[in-house]
Amino acid sequence: MSQRKKFVAGNWKMHTTLAEGRELARAIRAEVENVEGVRIAVIPPFTSVAAVAEVLRGSRIEVGGQDLHWEEKGAFTGEVSAPMLRDAGATVVLVGHSERRQYFGETDESANRKVRAALAAGLSPVLCVGETLDERDAGRTLDVVGRQVRGGLAGLSSAELARVCIAYEPVWAIGTGRTATPEQAQEVHAAVRAILRELGGDVTEAIPILYGGSVKPDNAPALLALSDVDGALVGGASLEASSFSAIVRAAA
Ligand code: PEP
Repeated sequence: MSQRKKFVAGNWKMHTTLAEGRELARAIRAEVENVEGVRIAVIPPFTSVAAVAEVLRGSRIEVGGQDLHWEEKGAFTGEVSAPMLRDAGATVVLVGHSERRQYFGETDESANRKVRAALAAGLSPVLCVGETLDERDAGRTLDVVGRQVRGGLAGLSSAELARVCIAYEPVWAIGTGRTATPEQAQEVHAAVRAILRELGGDVTEAIPILYGGSVKPDNAPALLALSDVDGALVGGASLEASSFSAIVRAAA
């Protein structure tokens, strides 16, 4: 078992009105208030970041954004910047989620700019990587994930690398109810860990590598027990306080 503190983050995606977001945050706070030794974050849609941060003020639960623009401000209609997320109370931000890559043209280059912008603003970026089913079937998983990790982290100093998180999320497992087997997850996590060491040496030992893709209370214990799995990025199961908190407890 690794020495890294486990990190469980809930990606609410495009769910929750303000009232629903506040209610979910309150319920999660009540359920995980006493769980020690796990870093916890909830990641609501932009409209609810400030309200959820307010509900969670004084707790150990962090709030994050689901994406960001790399510029601080400017004529970029529809975008939100890293300083704006900080200002709203976020400490974490997802970068390069597969839904951004699939539907909104995110590339390794744009992800890299976003990682840098997040770091510059003092946010903890969670760089999401993962292969499609076709890529896995073609035996290209490690190539694809390796390219995404190297591309997303290109040019970072060791000090910057130490502040990054990675989420390995096989695209075929996101929202599908299919989960990577522990062997599949462990293989990719170990490969990512090796790339991180190559990129930044010892400082990268602190980087948590989360697994994401249909993590539920019943499969979380086996995944979180793997030596190179340092936590979970949870989508669907993070929309219910009981299932999200069960996953947090499995990480504790
Ligand atoms: C995600 O959106 O990052 C995710 C892993 O979703 P789900 O848990 O629903 O597969």
